[in-house]
Amino acid sequence: MDASGPTGQPDRRGAREPERETMAVRGGRRHNAGSLATPLWATSVFEQGSLEEMRKLGARPRPERFYSRYANPTVTAFEDAVAELEGAEAALAFASGMGAVFATVFGLCSRGSHVVAQQQMYGGTLQLLRGVCPRMGIDVTFVDATRPGAFAEAVEPGRTTLVLAETPANPCLDLVDLDELAGLQGPITAVDATFATPLGLRPLEHGVSLSIHSATKAMAGHNDATLGVVSGERDLVDWLWGFATVQGATPSPFDALNGLRGLRTLGVRLRQQTETALALAAALEAHPRVANVRHPGLASHPQHELARRQLRVTGGLVSFDLGGYGAACAFVDALRLCRLAPSLGGPETLITHPASTSHAGLGPEELAEAGISVGTVRLSAGLEATADVLADVLGAVDAAAGLEDGAES
Ligand SMILES: *Cc1c(COP(=O)(O)O)cnc(C)c1O
Repeated sequence: MDASGPTGQPDRRGAREPERETMAVRGGRRHNAGSLATPLWATSVFEQGSLEEMRKLGARPRPERFYSRYANPTVTAFEDAVAELEGAEAALAFASGMGAVFATVFGLCSRGSHVVAQQQMYGGTLQLLRGVCPRMGIDVTFVDATRPGAFAEAVEPGRTTLVLAETPANPCLDLVDLDELAGLQGPITAVDATFATPLGLRPLEHGVSLSIHSATKAMAGHNDATLGVVSGERDLVDWLWGFATVQGATPSPFDALNGLRGLRTLGVRLRQQTETALALAAALEAHPRVANVRHPGLASHPQHELARRQLRVTGGLVSFDLGGYGAACAFVDALRLCRLAPSLGGPETLITHPASTSHAGLGPEELAEAGISVGTVRLSAGLEATADVLADVLGAVDAAAGLEDGAES
């Protein structure tokens, strides 16, 4: 595009790339046909004009207006918006975050492949890597991703197909240095950046091959869609598309619509959630009954320097340790505003207990490796007023502490 304005002077607007919050409002409009909001293409199939047209479309990758397991215009709109936000050539949506993770692992690996993965990850991903992969003849080595050089030591040249990371990691918000990850020679690198959202982190900018998200969380952002997405270079994403069409974890157009609608407001939501999380993390850290408060924006985070360098927004998640299962139960019982539910990134402040939900499938040693104890609670800040969330959480911590003291005396 010509970068000069109507006066012939250089137009400063032309030289400037919009901020990601602006991209999120603007993107994915190719299929709108004049409608400002994205139309819902609630169809599983498209009528073809001739046998010849049908034959040509069916032979092409990601054919538009053919069959919705292959592509659907509402889903494509969501994918276009995500690709732009990620700075990627292409994105591919799935029926869930796990659908996206599964396609990444099984679309790229075969019997005999070696995967290097971090030990601090979402419970479903760990179950896939620890349970399903070995059964399919895929060998997985787990590393402590917070230790510099850990990935490089575990990669076996010529054998390692994939390196899979997650940052900030569920649930204790450990971080992975993406410049180090991208510097690995040989394997494809993939990062689950669900907690950061593309507004907080763009893994591809660091040179990582694939960025994965559970869009069920902050992207869709209203607890009304189950959705996943993978972004990267077009050839690689097209390859995953070939796998995805037979995997069948195809997103519903309605969920993709909610995903795209969520992206429009992601910027303001993330700002509010981050503000609450930071205030809460600071208050909990000062509380004598709470241990191991984790949030990437806290100066006490073991990788705070990396957080400052790598994360544009530190996000709405906080994890902390109440000291035991009894204290965690008493805390949850005393909450009035926050809800108990195993998700994150939505309008309601949600509390989960990783040891009995997302990571319930893990044994005691594996839990310890992931940095989780029976007293660990994870909080996802919602959109309520910060003061109300603070009052509810601190009040419940006090109530739980009072109960425990009462039980002791
Ligand atoms: C929730 C989550 C997933 C799985 O996503 P679903 O949409 O529930 O399948 C994967 N990774 C992370 C980090 C998550 O939080």
